[in-house]
Amino acid sequence: MTVTGCRAGAGDDDAASRGASGVGDPYFPKSGNGGFDVTHYGLDLAYAPDTHRLSGTATLTARATRDLTAFNLDLEGMTVEKVTVDGARATWRRAGQELTVRPPDGLGRHTRFRVAVRYSGVPVTVTDPDGTEGGWLRTADGAVALGQPRGSMTWFPGNHHPSDKATYRLAVTVPEGLRAVSHGEPAGEETEGGRTTYRWRTTEPTASHAATLAIGRYDVDRATTGGGLPLYSAVDPEQAEESGPVLRRLPGVLEWAERTFGPYPFSSAGVIVERPDDAGYALETQNRPVFPGAPETWLLVHEIAHQWYGNSVSPRTWRDLWLSEGFATYAEWLWDEDHGGDTAQETFDTLYEGDYFDDEEENDALWSFPPARSPGAAHLFDVPVYQRGAMVLHRIRQAAGDDAFFALLRGWAREHRHGTADTGDFTAYVEKSAPGKDFEGIWADWLYGEGKPERP
Ligand SMILES: [Zn+2]
Repeated sequence: MTVTGCRAGAGDDDAASRGASGVGDPYFPKSGNGGFDVTHYGLDLAYAPDTHRLSGTATLTARATRDLTAFNLDLEGMTVEKVTVDGARATWRRAGQELTVRPPDGLGRHTRFRVAVRYSGVPVTVTDPDGTEGGWLRTADGAVALGQPRGSMTWFPGNHHPSDKATYRLAVTVPEGLRAVSHGEPAGEETEGGRTTYRWRTTEPTASHAATLAIGRYDVDRATTGGGLPLYSAVDPEQAEESGPVLRRLPGVLEWAERTFGPYPFSSAGVIVERPDDAGYALETQNRPVFPGAPETWLLVHEIAHQWYGNSVSPRTWRDLWLSEGFATYAEWLWDEDHGGDTAQETFDTLYEGDYFDDEEENDALWSFPPARSPGAAHLFDVPVYQRGAMVLHRIRQAAGDDAFFALLRGWAREHRHGTADTGDFTAYVEKSAPGKDFEGIWADWLYGEGKPERP
């Protein structure tokens, strides 16, 4: 183990009283940490786009789930300057993404505590096992933070795993003229001495990979839907013209999604539109997804559906990601079906027949592994997790019937609202919701089975 940045003698102590360095995720064993739950992140940050330097303090409110003499946080890059626990100086050491904090006094099980980490540096971009870039991405006029699956550790220390959700408060100071946009709701701004501080607050539980911070020049669009949901969108001025139709479509997409999936799970919605080169993909960051360029309708529908499936009901481990991507993909099919396009059955058939993608290899890739058993982190965002995940949902619809299926879609979002769930929870929920129907073959062939299942 290479230990870097050792500030003081945080030596080895009894392993039994140290929090684990991960929560045991099958793909990302170092993501998250054991021994405590974070309930709240308070992030006081400043960013200087000319030097790309981020600095500030992250104050985490947490509860020990066992006796702790030391515990870990995830932080990739950055320089840690000071750590306190309940106001008292703590020692720390770093090894890779693990920041091990040892408070002066041990923390008893169930103790609530506050750990404050002061840090600074030029945040890094992480390359994920599938080759995509996430974390802190520099943009033409600032930066945007994309956290799925492990990028959020580049801009604040935390318990970075979807199984530990928390509320957030951000105060982000940037040069006057720029803007800082985040998840949650705006909570004020003030300008002083050529710098503006933007405040954001999120009272609903948020997985850290769904947190975001976008800094740059934006046109802000505020509105309220007919149902009273506040909308706050931030659009790069270069994308303003192309984004007009998207902003006009958003209330209608939200209304359709509420009819289909049940009440919207958060206190606000919106979009963040960056320039096409600013990121390699769109992401369902909570409340307001990030798009590199104005999105087409299907992509807007996909990311809005994630607010129910992925952000409110989060996958318990990254292996359960099909519960997020399969649902968001099926939402695209349902949107088409409800708006004069192909029916979900037609989309299913096109996929089954290998005519869905232009690229033959992509059509074949659909059968390369089952959605609930992907072969590893490098395949986390592959076709089977999306389209074959959606095919599982369509098979459930065929078996359960439309009434039971749509009740089940809404019920699943209600039952695990603001929580996490895994594949076993889902299959049990389906069986409970449609008693007397047989789903065994669907689980065996479509969810967990290798190869292409027989035509249903
Ligand atoms: Zn998605």
